Amino acid sequence: MTVSIPPALRILGVPIHDVTLDEAVEWAARWIAEGGPHQVATVNPEFVMAARRLPSFRAVLERADLCLPDGVGITLAARYLGRPLRERVAGVDLVEALAARAAQEGWRLFLLGAAPGVAERAAANLTARFPDLTICGTYAGSPSPEEEADIVRRIQEASPHILFVAYGAPAQDLWIARNLAPTGASVGIGVGGALDYLAGVVPRAPRWMRRAGLEWLYRLLRQPWRWRRQRVLPLFVFLVLLSRFSR
Ligand code: UDP
Repeated sequence: MTVSIPPALRILGVPIHDVTLDEAVEWAARWIAEGGPHQVATVNPEFVMAARRLPSFRAVLERADLCLPDGVGITLAARYLGRPLRERVAGVDLVEALAARAAQEGWRLFLLGAAPGVAERAAANLTARFPDLTICGTYAGSPSPEEEADIVRRIQEASPHILFVAYGAPAQDLWIARNLAPTGASVGIGVGGALDYLAGVVPRAPRWMRRAGLEWLYRLLRQPWRWRRQRVLPLFVFLVLLSRFSR
């Protein structure tokens, strides 16, 4: 039977697990040994706000095996709500840590999503760093339902242990929930912009900004179109403040 982890807390109803990067890798190892589909989401405040609007997304996060705290808004909200989390786990750090472990264990990885050519460049950079790593497939595709059958067949044929999906939220997480089981992969992880970073097409915030909890600001400055998504953040803050009193 699959062992699951109870969430440490809920932020506006969305479960969040208090799992460190190393522990997330251990959970993946366990699930690969066990087999069967396991879904991991990398939750930030935009996810929480999207889940309020979209019951289907909320249901996917509710059923996910792990909802990792990605985004300083989540760790700050958890602290404010009296349930501090030990670590922030960013999607790109998880991909790197899993790639390092996969090279040792012989796990096969599939990179799905991002713009054409990006997954291939991310794969080349990862294999340059971890020469024993097997990336058994890459494909940009799209989250559109007409492409699903073809994409699932490609992944089945490549038979990965871990499937990383970079279609942005909520599309990637809904895609994994619909399709992970037929792909045969044991672990499916929505990783947002991680492949863009790993391919080197988008620079990551400098370490000091990440430590200071300012990665969101760096992303906004580099990609100003993000204001559209980030404009939900003031409401997120307000609702979290309110939720402490309504509990
Ligand atoms: N993307 C895609 N197809 C789509 C929408 C998005 O491949 O229809 C990719 C996009 O190229 C990027 C990733 O999904 O690589 C989402 O990145 P974003 O930075 O928006 O995600 P976040 O980290 O903010 O969740």
